Amino acid sequence: MQGLVIKSTGSWYQVHASDGQDYDCRIKGKFRITGIQTTNPIAVGDQVEFELEPNSNNGVIFKLHDRKNYIIRKSINLSKQAQIIAANMDQAFLVVTLASPRTSLGFIDRFLATAEAYSIPATLIFNKLDLFHEEGLEILAEYKAIYENIGYPCYEVSAIEGTNLEQVQDLLKDKTTLFSGHSGVGKSSLINALLPGRTIKTGIVSEWSDKGQHTTTFAEMHTLPFGGYLIDTPGIRELGIYDIRPEELGHYFREIRDLMHACKFHNCRHINEPGCAVLVAVNDGEIELSRYESYLSIYHGNETRA
Ligand code: GDP
Ligand code: ZN
Repeated sequence: MQGLVIKSTGSWYQVHASDGQDYDCRIKGKFRITGIQTTNPIAVGDQVEFELEPNSNNGVIFKLHDRKNYIIRKSINLSKQAQIIAANMDQAFLVVTLASPRTSLGFIDRFLATAEAYSIPATLIFNKLDLFHEEGLEILAEYKAIYENIGYPCYEVSAIEGTNLEQVQDLLKDKTTLFSGHSGVGKSSLINALLPGRTIKTGIVSEWSDKGQHTTTFAEMHTLPFGGYLIDTPGIRELGIYDIRPEELGHYFREIRDLMHACKFHNCRHINEPGCAVLVAVNDGEIELSRYESYLSIYHGNETRA
């Protein structure tokens, strides 16, 4: 049977099969992905082939279909291993907020660079709109302008009051969307508001304790009642960009990528080189200083890691 992996613990996979039912499956054999070592070769969003074990409702996955994309994060414990978080996404949403707790621009920029590196279109969802008045709304407009000016769609919502949720639902319809966000921004509240009738526990990491195991689920897929899938990443604080080499980084900042061909040196790092078109644009205010600071911060971080 063919199916879609909708939940994964790294050892068990819940597969939504073509017959409309869900099956708990294990993996048989080795599924190698060139270039990376993983602790979980199959992830949420994967299309797989499986067969049922005799006299059981449990399945065995024996084939993985080609992926259009996937995101990984480096395992915290095993430095050389990576986890595949999710596969086959159409888009990625970052839920952010300007209050309690304010999402830093650096965090947003790391997410956007990661999405660029994986070629996944990214959108920013500013939550907790109900908390803002006058001055707060002006700051919100400034934040949004930074990102809209470089081509990232931004939406303002309130999960609590239900404001502008139809706009988000329209974007989600018939797509597979990854939801990410720093804890406390209201990601769970927003997902609950978007999925009437379903309740995701807010404030804690969800666990899948079937099969006598007690493993943290790092990604989970929800079927949207109006069409499409939403991938939640409850246990993941931040998507990693570990694998971006410093010299590639400029490609993942859209406004830098657009200008870098005009730099005097083809291998310009945009740090202190003469004739750097990016530095000129930063000085002229054409490139937002906060964005450039994020570029430098990631550049130097990845430089020391490499
Ligand atoms: P998560 O950690 O991102 O999943 O955030 P939660 O959904 O658990 O929400 C964190 C806190 O923010 C909770 O106290 C929520 O009640 C609150 N919250 C979530 N959405 C909103 C919103 O739109 N407006 C306000 N004022 N508070 C919100
Ligand atoms: Zn340059």
